[in-house]
Amino acid sequence: MSERTLAIIKPDAVKKNAVGDIINRYEQAGLKPVAIKMIHMSQSVVEGFYAVHKARPFFGSLCAFMSSGPAVVLVLQGDNAIKKNRELMGATDPAKADAGSIRKAHGANIEFNAVHGSDSPETAQFEIGYFFPGMEIFS
Ligand code: ADP
Ligand code: MG
Repeated sequence: MSERTLAIIKPDAVKKNAVGDIINRYEQAGLKPVAIKMIHMSQSVVEGFYAVHKARPFFGSLCAFMSSGPAVVLVLQGDNAIKKNRELMGATDPAKADAGSIRKAHGANIEFNAVHGSDSPETAQFEIGYFFPGMEIFS
């Protein structure tokens, strides 16, 4: 079933010039970018995006990281896009991520881990709407 997911190429990966490699991996896996932009998120934009993690000990550090520089946000569309993107990304901790995954290739540690991907249809819907109005999504 074709579905959509939200991906973010995080500020660490943008700084490392890994944007092209990561987008190429999406396309090669059949995940088509149908919306894309570069944004420098403010602290409050990140806090709203990661509101589910507000109680976590790493929340403050995560918000500082995500607002530290520009990021690329994308909507990816394809069969089983949510699960497929999570597989492409690899585990949250790059040290535990599968060989061949994006986080294995570009992540430094459990925080600076290069990419974000929605984890369920409900979060995908919220996250896509958080960054993109319908008229900026092309399918
Ligand atoms: P994922 O991005 O794999 O869905 P989570 O939703 O659990 O992982 O966490 C959101 C983000 O918060 C992670 O991608 C990572 O950047 C950061 N993070 C997660 N766990 C930790 C941790 N223990 N210490 C520092 N940062 C973390
Ligand atoms: Mg998550």
